[in-house]
Amino acid sequence: MNKKGLLIIGAGGVSTVATLKCAMNIDTFENITLASRTLSKCVKIKKMIKEKIDVDIDVAIVDADDTNDIIKIIKKTNCKVVLNVALPYQDLTIMDACSATNTHYIDTANYEHPDEAKFEYKEQWARNDDFKNNNLTALLGSGFDPGVTGVFVKYIEQNYLDSIEYIDIMDCNAGDHGYPFATNFNPEINLREVSANGRYWEEGEWITTKPLEIRVDHDYPEVGVKPSYLLYHEELESLSKNIKGLKRIRFFMTFGDAYIQHMNCLENVGMLGIEPVEHKGQMITPIEFLATLLPDPASLGPRTHGKTNIGCICEGIKDGVRKKYYIYNICDHQECYKETTAQAVSYTTGVPAMIGSKLVYNGTWDLRGAVNVEEFDSTPFVNEMMTQGLPWKVMEMDIE
Ligand code: NDP
Repeated sequence: MNKKGLLIIGAGGVSTVATLKCAMNIDTFENITLASRTLSKCVKIKKMIKEKIDVDIDVAIVDADDTNDIIKIIKKTNCKVVLNVALPYQDLTIMDACSATNTHYIDTANYEHPDEAKFEYKEQWARNDDFKNNNLTALLGSGFDPGVTGVFVKYIEQNYLDSIEYIDIMDCNAGDHGYPFATNFNPEINLREVSANGRYWEEGEWITTKPLEIRVDHDYPEVGVKPSYLLYHEELESLSKNIKGLKRIRFFMTFGDAYIQHMNCLENVGMLGIEPVEHKGQMITPIEFLATLLPDPASLGPRTHGKTNIGCICEGIKDGVRKKYYIYNICDHQECYKETTAQAVSYTTGVPAMIGSKLVYNGTWDLRGAVNVEEFDSTPFVNEMMTQGLPWKVMEMDIE
């Protein structure tokens, strides 16, 4: 493959971190082009990188809803790898452009149709042969969750347990941005996820719950006890398939009372709707209008204080004995901001997006087809985390 360089698509909060971290690893990526819908956002990131670490990147405009437009820019840059940090709506167009141009693909979120609040891997996995037959990798879900959570589970399976029976993924954001209501990443994607029914997997069955119906109060190291609500999350789909011997997997995320009150109120008045409605002769989609009103997640960096603690509780058997571990990372919003101008939610997604891109780019992760992170050896990924800003720990827990 006589191609070189990295093309990053999307210039929002996650991209701010991912692009800076890729530039910090320019020896691997050789050259970087950042392309998005709004050129000024790419230019802003380019300037920030030049000021912080004196590395030059190229910028360009692309309409990532248009496969041909993406093909044009891939051909122009002759890049070897595309990192997709635009929105989940663009996963398929970007994947198709990559397989058509012999280019590896990485993303952080699974495909979601704009007209249906539902995300699943089906259509991305259906492209497995397009990548495999061309000796290409499509690395699916290389953010934090999905992403690091899958790598953590694999690491525990490789190093601590002979078989994992129960997994609870715990996502705690104890940051405070001072706004009555804001989302930490793209508001439309975030609110569609949280207001949907909950779902978890047990003994081969999917069990559906009402939105935020199941709550546990969990004690997060260095953060304290936080109300955590069961949500459906995309890595449940791949981990329930890929971790053999699993009996149950669930996902919990923390929300403060104010967030839930605002979300319920917005839902009750129809502001989370994804169907267009007519307003004074114009068609508008309520959730898109709401996203316009809410603070831009990329602007939360300077205002957000506190920590995130995200990890996986894995319970299973080692040498015939039942054991339980929590493997986790802690990030401090202000430290992330100082390093990258972005808050910890963008940071914890952008760093693993860079690591996944790096491992595919340099050939360390070389499985071909449309593959999820837990299908690879976890060792090089967790080692990179230690040195690229996401140190992690493993803690043994009591068996109740
Ligand atoms: P933002 O909304 O901040 O940024 C999205 C970027 O994509 C914007 O620059 C936007 O352009 C660009 N974009 C959107 N549509 C197009 C298009 N058609 N063509 C070109 N560019 C486009 O989102 P985030 O940075 O918060 O999130 C980025 C991704 O990361 C999302 O897919 C999100 O789901 C995922 N994510 C994953 C997490 C994980 O842990 N796995 C956690 C958090 C987020 P414009 O500025 O012009 O609108």
